[in-house]
Amino acid sequence: MKEKILEMESYAQEKNVPIIEKKSIAFIMKYIKDHNVKNVLEIGAAIGYSAILMASCKEDCFITTIERDEERYLEALKNVKACGLDKKINVVFQDALDVNLSEEIKYDLIFIDGAKAQNTKFFEKYKYFLKENGAIITDNLKFHGYVGASDKIESKNLKSLVSKIEEYIEFLKNNEEFDTTFYDIGDGLSVSTWKNEK
Ligand code: SAH
Ligand code: MG
Repeated sequence: MKEKILEMESYAQEKNVPIIEKKSIAFIMKYIKDHNVKNVLEIGAAIGYSAILMASCKEDCFITTIERDEERYLEALKNVKACGLDKKINVVFQDALDVNLSEEIKYDLIFIDGAKAQNTKFFEKYKYFLKENGAIITDNLKFHGYVGASDKIESKNLKSLVSKIEEYIEFLKNNEEFDTTFYDIGDGLSVSTWKNEK
């Protein structure tokens, strides 16, 4: 298992797969244990790295993870199997904005880690699948330090992506249904929970 994790880390580096930073996944694993999380929905499996670490940090923690890129999906499947976690992790090959989840299942934790420009769409679509005392965690809110420093960006595409992340942060800050705490951990992450009134 440990070897497999190291292997995944070097695969990610070689193939430029943006897997989560160590401090961020440690934060999420602690969150899972502290809040007795049993059911996680992840948007953006990539090669299964974060899903495998989440599933392995607690015996009764099950993950559904969505990935739209076929090569990464296949790699995730392979890695999940190699770690013996295929009973705990369900990898779905589809665009998360097209997935139709069963409305009967609600999640303790939703981890948003897909295309950064789509964060608001993911949030708005999947909040209905969050338990009353659940949380939505979003990764990469600093986006390598570019967020809040868009005046220094030359590339138009990058600038537009970063402004989408900035808009998402505003969306969270002004949200009437959710309270959000922002953490300066790894590439920046947030934890959003339903406001008390609900
Ligand atoms: N959570 C992973 C990293 C995910 S990287 C880890 O930390 O190990 C982001 C992934 O999201 C990419 O592989 C990308 O293909 C996928 N993705 C982006 N937008 C998506 C969408 N709309 N639906 C499904 N997958 C998406
Ligand atoms: Mg990430």
